[in-house]
Amino acid sequence: MDLNRRITAIPPSVTLSITSKAKALLQAGEDVCSFGAGEPDFDTPEHIKKAAAKALADGCTKYAPTAGLPALREAVAEKLQSDNGLTFDPQQIIVSDGAKHSLFNVIMTICSEGDEVIIPTPYWLSYPEMVRVAGARPVFVASTEANGFKVTPDQLEKAITGKTKAVIINSPSNPTGSVYSEKELSQLAQVLVKHDLYVISDEIYEKILYDGVSHKSIASVSDELFKKTIVVNGFSKAYSMTGWRIGYIGAPFEITKPMTALQSHSTSGATTFAQHGAIVALTGPQDCVADMVAAFSERREYLHKRLTDIKGVDCPKPEGAFYLFPNIGELGLDSLAFSERLLNEHKVAVVPGKPFGHDENIRLSYACSMDNIREGMDRLETFIASL
Ligand code: PMP
Ligand code: GLU
Repeated sequence: MDLNRRITAIPPSVTLSITSKAKALLQAGEDVCSFGAGEPDFDTPEHIKKAAAKALADGCTKYAPTAGLPALREAVAEKLQSDNGLTFDPQQIIVSDGAKHSLFNVIMTICSEGDEVIIPTPYWLSYPEMVRVAGARPVFVASTEANGFKVTPDQLEKAITGKTKAVIINSPSNPTGSVYSEKELSQLAQVLVKHDLYVISDEIYEKILYDGVSHKSIASVSDELFKKTIVVNGFSKAYSMTGWRIGYIGAPFEITKPMTALQSHSTSGATTFAQHGAIVALTGPQDCVADMVAAFSERREYLHKRLTDIKGVDCPKPEGAFYLFPNIGELGLDSLAFSERLLNEHKVAVVPGKPFGHDENIRLSYACSMDNIREGMDRLETFIASL
């Protein structure tokens, strides 16, 4: 069959397939412990659901403007100003169907055939596929555990060629949870400005932080870099709104104009009544976010202790997101074999590190209940003891 080779070359998202496999097993009555989903287990806060339900009842069932409802674009611009110190005109905000869709549209808008996009490893597994679909080439820069899974300005400088178009920064990171400090971002920014590169800054985990650490947007550390940064964010993680499919960008006008045109020919824009819920997520009370982070924090402490107590497992304690990314290299199985056997033999779902670019690691999401974590860790211990 002569199909589009850029599309047939895409492997399915392992995070989504493991998540749906674990959900299907649970629904079939199987006793599965899932650390797979990067999806908070909480329901969306009530006041947000009510706002969307009201919008639906009020007849907000027609197309919204392609780039998003004006009130949502204004609320996003205000959020980016107050939380991140970034001054965007609401016209520079585009709302899409989830941050994943925002990233896809940004990459399609920026990249031409043959361009290179630098992606630090470990990376969220959808980035390289999006770059390849756009006809560009992902260039990986390997971070190390010793360096907190962060890349240095020197590493970045060495990876830049005449073809480099953009760099993707994801802080806090999926899958490592590492968070770049303001100083580290400023150092990276100097290199990026020198080479006049775009930065795609995926900040979807910005609210999920521990131990008093704060988030900085790379767009805020340099006025020069601000002009080249596309800030990507969404509602899935902070407000537990994964199924709503709303994400957004704040970007220079040169990006937002063509990207809006692209969106006008693909989805026409995000779901109208879901956008009404998103407005209230940003403008309503924020204690729901703090409550969820407090629960994640407790789970993180427990899971990290259980993992580091296991001989042969090395696990840093990251400062953000809701993942741990332990190294299991000493246990004699690669990440795919380890994850497959763990699921088949002990009914515990984790995500192998390979599709994130690190085959010696596995990813455990602790966006799940404490009971799931306790039981899952008992089984993981039993499995490792059997190896
Ligand atoms: N970026 C990262 C790093 C993620 O982990 C996710 C996970 N869903 C997304 C973007 C996309 O989120 P969504 O499309 O649900 O807004
Ligand atoms: N981002 C989440 C994860 O990494 C959800 C799945 C996905 O969008 O890939 O698990």
